[in-house]
Amino acid sequence: MNQTIFLLVGAGILALGITAGMMVMRRKLGSEVSRLESRLRDMQRHEDENRTLLTEAQAESQNLSSFLVMLPDLARQLNSHLDRRNIAQLLANALEHIFDPSRILIYFSRHEEKQLYLAYKKGVSETVPLGLKVGYNEGMTGWIAESRQVMDKDDFHGQSTGLRRGARIGGRVNEEQLGLDLLAPMSYEDECLGVICIGGSARKPSDQKRMIKLVSDLGSLALYNNLLYTSFQAMANSDALTKMYTKRYLLVRLGSEIHRAEKANQPLSVFMFDIDHFKKYNDAHGHLAGDDLLRMLSKTVRHELREDDVAARYGGEEFVVLLPGIRKAEALTIAEKIRRTIEMTRFPNAGTQPLGKVTISGGVSTLGEDAKTSSELLKAADDALYESKQRGRNLVLPHRIRYLSDEEEEEVREADPVA
Ligand code: GH3
Ligand code: MG
Ligand code: MG
Repeated sequence: MNQTIFLLVGAGILALGITAGMMVMRRKLGSEVSRLESRLRDMQRHEDENRTLLTEAQAESQNLSSFLVMLPDLARQLNSHLDRRNIAQLLANALEHIFDPSRILIYFSRHEEKQLYLAYKKGVSETVPLGLKVGYNEGMTGWIAESRQVMDKDDFHGQSTGLRRGARIGGRVNEEQLGLDLLAPMSYEDECLGVICIGGSARKPSDQKRMIKLVSDLGSLALYNNLLYTSFQAMANSDALTKMYTKRYLLVRLGSEIHRAEKANQPLSVFMFDIDHFKKYNDAHGHLAGDDLLRMLSKTVRHELREDDVAARYGGEEFVVLLPGIRKAEALTIAEKIRRTIEMTRFPNAGTQPLGKVTISGGVSTLGEDAKTSSELLKAADDALYESKQRGRNLVLPHRIRYLSDEEEEEVREADPVA
């Protein structure tokens, strides 16, 4: 009996033990299952994230490789002696390709004035005009020109650059309202050549600073090449002594100015002048003093002209000024003003000249009225110049169509001195 009870109790204890063990195991298994479930969820989340990252990376790499495909062509175009406006357009195309920004501003430098001017804009209001001038000390844009570093918006907020928020650029534009996110300099050695700014990009490559640097480096090279090319061109087209254009350049330019004037139905006049008794000046003071006088007189003339006027050394001491958009009467006023300025200027040794001062004689001709072709136009101005010399020098005359020969005119004058 005792043995039976003992067996029963033993069996009970065993059953209890097994039940307790099973409960512990179930609890353990339960927590293991929920741990595994949570890991699974984590892994799924990671997988989703990785898939998104992969899609983004694929899109970025696709975008990058299509940009790399266009890169050689872009570099070739940028360096094919373009004018600066086309450089800005090509850089903007590259920025569109990489960033798809809603705002683009491209500035070029006038480094002698430590100033940038806006050469290209997209997505900004009328209050930000092309040509807007921004000093190197104005706002984020000016700061980039000075520091020549690529910066994003966060860099500006994080750095104590001493920039006031909402600084005005170009004296009137609140730069903060432009919504710029990324700015990069274009430079050569220590010289700033321009600044590129973008904002509101639809595509943001992970290494966006390196990408915009790639574009700004291409821009730097193109602008530097352009600078070299234009300065070589200016050197080749300008006379070393007087810094006036050469005769060769004048003849080419006159052709294109006539074409432009006819197309736009605009006037075009020519003023030709020659220094009076220059041979005497050389004889009295030597050839070097004569050279100095040519240099000084040319500077005086250039000072009197507008940017559109083209002044050239036509011969030894003979000059031609093209006056685009100017009619005969106004051309005569300009020519007369130049003649008078020279007469009034105290050039060295002027007193020994036959007229007691350094003077010029000139003639003015106008397209249409006096001539149709470039050679006729120059000939007409030269005829008027010759007449000024004949009438005693230090004089400017308009070309006039003559119906009588010199002798016949003399006869008319003798018969009627008032005419
Ligand atoms: P006119 O009033 O009739 O024009 O008299 P001119 O003596 O000025 O005219 P002419 O054409 O007889 O002489 C021009 C002189 O200009 C002759 C030449 O020695 C001088 N000349 C031409 N080119 C240069 C130059 O580059 N330097 C110097 N010093 N003299 C030059
Ligand atoms: Mg002369
Ligand atoms: Mg002469």
